[in-house]
Amino acid sequence: MPEGPEIRLAADRIAHALVGRKARRVSFAFHRLKEFEAKLRGQRVLEIRTRGKAILTCFENDWVIYSHNQLYGRWYVCPAGNPPQTRRQLRLEIENQKYSAMLYSASDIEVMPRRDLHMHPFLARIGPDLLSDKPGVDLIVKRLTADEFRNRQLAGLLLDQKFLAGLGNYLRAEVLTHAGLHPLRRPADCSEGQLLKLAKTIIRLTHRSYRTRGIINPPALVKRLQAEGKTNREDYRFNSYNRAGQPCYFCGHEIVFSSAGGRKMYFCPSCQVAP
Ligand SMILES: [Zn+2]
Repeated sequence: MPEGPEIRLAADRIAHALVGRKARRVSFAFHRLKEFEAKLRGQRVLEIRTRGKAILTCFENDWVIYSHNQLYGRWYVCPAGNPPQTRRQLRLEIENQKYSAMLYSASDIEVMPRRDLHMHPFLARIGPDLLSDKPGVDLIVKRLTADEFRNRQLAGLLLDQKFLAGLGNYLRAEVLTHAGLHPLRRPADCSEGQLLKLAKTIIRLTHRSYRTRGIINPPALVKRLQAEGKTNREDYRFNSYNRAGQPCYFCGHEIVFSSAGGRKMYFCPSCQVAP
């Protein structure tokens, strides 16, 4: 399941092909969307935004294509007139003089004016996107201490896209390890300093994962581990995630596994003391 950084990287590929160029053809597989093809034809693409797992293709006439990949959707970017070899069903194609961006298999596609985005049922309930909206430390601390969120255990809260969009399983585990917070702690149990550190860690690790394509440990630690012979990516990218039974790189204690929040949870009981 892709997390925020992976979705943003996919959006970057689409943006590279489409942004700044006029769409010479937009086609939808679904009959209900056919009426929009003429509206979008000849319009320049201004930007590709992400909100959680939704991708928003924004045109210069203020119309937006909303698409959500769900589990099966997949975007391909190809030179114009050169579709990929695939048995998937083509659902949406945006073509300009140079490139074609094609969405296969996804069925959750809609077209709406930009001013109506906030009324879309998915977008209306999702929190700010860490890589697209780029919420700052103050805003994240404000959300952590809001009545809606402050009494929730961090293990569940960090995965809740209503709180912030973009954190999945591996980022949740790593954020809590790097911030030194136990998964069952609640924002209400944290000091001001801990909340600040948590907010900074959420921002730093999400952006680092985007930049490094999924390597969460600090660069100096990664270098040291590689020099020690750990050349397999899975051995140096995380401190906790998927490392049950192995030593924590910060303190040497064994990483443990639990299924807190109903999903795989890894943490260091020494760095992340129970509340
Ligand atoms: Zn530790």
